[in-house]
Amino acid sequence: MDKKGILIVVSGFSGSGKGTIMKELLSRYPDTYALSISATTRSPREGEVDGREYFFVSKDEFEKMIAKGELIEYAKYVENYYGTPRDYVEKKLDEGRDVILEIEIQGALNVKKMFPDTLLLFVTPPSADELKKRLVGRGTETMDVIRSRMERACEEADGMENYDYLIINDDLDRCVKEMHSIIQGEHRRSSRNCGFMKEIKEDLERMKH
Ligand code: 5GP
Repeated sequence: MDKKGILIVVSGFSGSGKGTIMKELLSRYPDTYALSISATTRSPREGEVDGREYFFVSKDEFEKMIAKGELIEYAKYVENYYGTPRDYVEKKLDEGRDVILEIEIQGALNVKKMFPDTLLLFVTPPSADELKKRLVGRGTETMDVIRSRMERACEEADGMENYDYLIINDDLDRCVKEMHSIIQGEHRRSSRNCGFMKEIKEDLERMKH
């Protein structure tokens, strides 16, 4: 089968648990997946490390990255910039890894426009009630930020139909297995295996004689 990695965008409501799913997926299949680390102008939360969760940069530095074409896409989200560095993504795809971008919907649609082969996955809790509970329960955000994220969640719900698959996060283990099998199934799509099909057709032709 063709070797090139698949570019995957994972989005979901803030509080959908997508971060936890990603961590688990990467620790179970470290040789299959690579997680892109974004640049952001927001301040680190407690426990976050520069170069691990994000590259934390100033607004000036971020604007320079945009100008130099170093970002595949970027978006503004709750007053801060977030963007995907180009080099890492291209290198890992060429190595045959499936590269995951954990980004919001605006960025997801921009990536899909530029790279139509991108697989779009949307993580959602089982219900709106459950989402609110998780957002409040995390306890790391002020009420103002929670309110603006709930408003943003309404907007994001509008775009869910643009994604290829929904991942309902009710049970971590089941969710991770399901995400892995969706992605691996995607590798078998005929349009992703043009090289393989060409080769088998040529071999068959040759065997006729
Ligand atoms: P948080 O501040 O909670 O870490 O992230 C806020 C939102 O920004 C999340 O929806 C996250 O997926 C999104 N995000 C993170 N990195 C990027 C990026 O590089 N590009 C875009 N467009 N969104 C991102």
